[in-house]
Amino acid sequence: MAVGSRGGRGGRGGRGGRGSREWGVWGENINLINLFNTFNQLIMRELKALIFDVDGTLAETERDGHRIAFNRAFAEVNLNWNWSETVYGELLEISGGKERIRYYLQQYNPDLIEDLDSLIPQLHQAKTNHYRNLLSSGEIQLRLGVKRLIEEAHQKGIKLAIATTSALPNALALIEKHLNPEWFEVIAAGDIVPNKKPAPDIYKYVLNEMKLSPDECLVFEDSFHGLQAASDAGLKTVVTLHDYTKNQDFSLASLVLNHLGEPNNTFKIIKGDINNKGYFDLDLGKKLTKYRTKYTK
Ligand SMILES: [Mg+2]
Repeated sequence: MAVGSRGGRGGRGGRGGRGSREWGVWGENINLINLFNTFNQLIMRELKALIFDVDGTLAETERDGHRIAFNRAFAEVNLNWNWSETVYGELLEISGGKERIRYYLQQYNPDLIEDLDSLIPQLHQAKTNHYRNLLSSGEIQLRLGVKRLIEEAHQKGIKLAIATTSALPNALALIEKHLNPEWFEVIAAGDIVPNKKPAPDIYKYVLNEMKLSPDECLVFEDSFHGLQAASDAGLKTVVTLHDYTKNQDFSLASLVLNHLGEPNNTFKIIKGDINNKGYFDLDLGKKLTKYRTKYTK
């Protein structure tokens, strides 16, 4: 190797003897540099894909979508109910739209004299139609920084994927309105896997479809269940929380922000030790992905 031949050349004569030690020290440094580079190649990872949850991550679909759709459904059948952001936050504890309406009636309108078994399905169907209209009209906006980051990834050849348990038509409607479905290599939605989040199945499915290892990807989520699903698939996760998830446990996250930020509207760091200009871009994504994830299950 180069170190040996230089040491040999320096071994000639008295001056060469001193030179021999100098070359030798340099050679040891070269050895250390080679060792460091090899070590880095073994542990460092290159960012190859960004994987996004949809509801709450791409857009605040609960606050700006489902809640508004419920209110429009109530107005359609002349019910004078309005679910405020606060009330809806409480109702989110109840899974399922029909169950949510029934819980609200029991809590806030227990004296309502109606045939609930016919009223609730009628309201729920009207709500579903209003939600689809909200998506297709573009009234549900993307969260701050989402479009900028996805466009940057697309332009720079970083793969994109979706991992959501919401229905495929709803996910597609949002993406078609604000982004481009063709930018995404995989759009995994709905019942494509048997077990929904917090099970890791949807993320394992996406990784398998993209033929990438967890170390090469970065996930964006907004909730504890989503974070747990991604973490259990061995993925590093950035959480952008919001009012409905801000009190959840995000200790497994690599970084927790209030949103992805923009140059003129910077994010707030909730958890994480980063030195950044205040908005999430690919450079920051690459830094987070650089070393092997610590959390695996
Ligand atoms: Mg979500």
